[in-house]
Amino acid sequence: MNAIEETKRINDEYNFFNEICEVKPSGKGKLSGYYVSVKDCIVVKDVESRSGSAILSGYKPVFDATVVKMIKEEGGTIIGKTAQDEFGFGSFSVNVGKGMKIPLNPIDKERSCGGSSGGAAGFTKKAPFKHIAIAESTGGSIVCPASFCGVYGLCPTYGLVSRYGLMDYASSLDKIGVMAKRIDEIALGLSVIAGHDEKDATSATAKKEDYGLQLSKGVKGMKIGIIKESLGKGTDREISKKVMEKIKVLEEKGVTIKEVPLPLNAKYSLAAYYLIAMCEASTNLAKYCGMRYGKHAELKGGFDEYFSSVRSANFGDEVKRRIIMGTFARMTGFRDAYYIKALKARTMMIEEYRKAFMEFDALISPTMPVIAPKFSEIKKMSPLQNYMMDILGVGPNLAGMPHISCPAGEKEGMPIGIMVTGNQFEEGKIIRIAKALENGQ
Ligand code: GLN
Repeated sequence: MNAIEETKRINDEYNFFNEICEVKPSGKGKLSGYYVSVKDCIVVKDVESRSGSAILSGYKPVFDATVVKMIKEEGGTIIGKTAQDEFGFGSFSVNVGKGMKIPLNPIDKERSCGGSSGGAAGFTKKAPFKHIAIAESTGGSIVCPASFCGVYGLCPTYGLVSRYGLMDYASSLDKIGVMAKRIDEIALGLSVIAGHDEKDATSATAKKEDYGLQLSKGVKGMKIGIIKESLGKGTDREISKKVMEKIKVLEEKGVTIKEVPLPLNAKYSLAAYYLIAMCEASTNLAKYCGMRYGKHAELKGGFDEYFSSVRSANFGDEVKRRIIMGTFARMTGFRDAYYIKALKARTMMIEEYRKAFMEFDALISPTMPVIAPKFSEIKKMSPLQNYMMDILGVGPNLAGMPHISCPAGEKEGMPIGIMVTGNQFEEGKIIRIAKALENGQ
């Protein structure tokens, strides 16, 4: 069976893809021989790209996202668009667009893959050939599913990887990153997609690096902080225990470990994140009005009527909830109380991280407070309980700090993830730490 047929076979069982394709490379290089899956929200020329939403049905982009172009130039073959929560709105990949299928956890089909990059993580675990996944995180969508599926997932510093060709969720938070079975493949993938892009106004001007060179550097002499609140009562005790055991591996390799409190993050990160993310999403989604991309309807009535009918019919419930809440929080009269306040809190939390990084090389916590939940458990959760799942992941996303989830053992046969957060543009350091943790397994 060739790779595409195998991908189709796996997909029939697990729903990891919204679309399977075979886009051949345009050059030869570091990714020759690799198959690359791309999250649905990142455009691939001529391949239906929907960001997991029915409103984009039939939309075939006329250009490649910069990351896709870079992958093709380095020899990677694109094999499809991976399943996700609609526009990235979720932590379990259950908020899929109308008519789309929910990806199933590769280890236990009754459980979630995590989200929103659920298909990417699930397929990374299962792929029987050389594969890396290109995923996206606004507030934890790379590390959460990586943790639930037992693979590596790295979300880089905001601006390190071009967002050109990414369908926006919240522009000040969105980052494209990599998932893979092994840490050397993470370093490889990141080395290909990182770099300045003049097509993205927020692209950083950092010099292109070969992150593979970091793998042999070791961790001796580093100082790492364990985030105190992350091991508190909100986190499953077994997970905290496993993470502490894993940290011993680093101590044995000459790392100094100390507890560090991040009280502002613990208290305000979720509230600030969801306010900012929803406000930005509610404006970013205005372009899906049945005029330019995807679904159209019969032109009837005034613009408002037409616009509302297309959106009512094609957006899922979570999308509608976020547009309504985001619009409310930035309306005249409420803006200062919610949106502006959330931005101020964000600045204070960034400051808290900055201080921590004056003392530490990196920070460590569990990635998620629980193992992958069963679909039957998710059904019972309220929207707020859903949002609470992101408590450990939203901090580094608000601060634009690079973070990686690494496999750290199991509970009830399900994977646990340990998260390493670095200071901005210190991807090299977190890759070194992840390598030390990998060897310690
Ligand atoms: N769970 C978060 C949310 O729903 C994260 C999503 C993401 O990073 N795309 O907003």
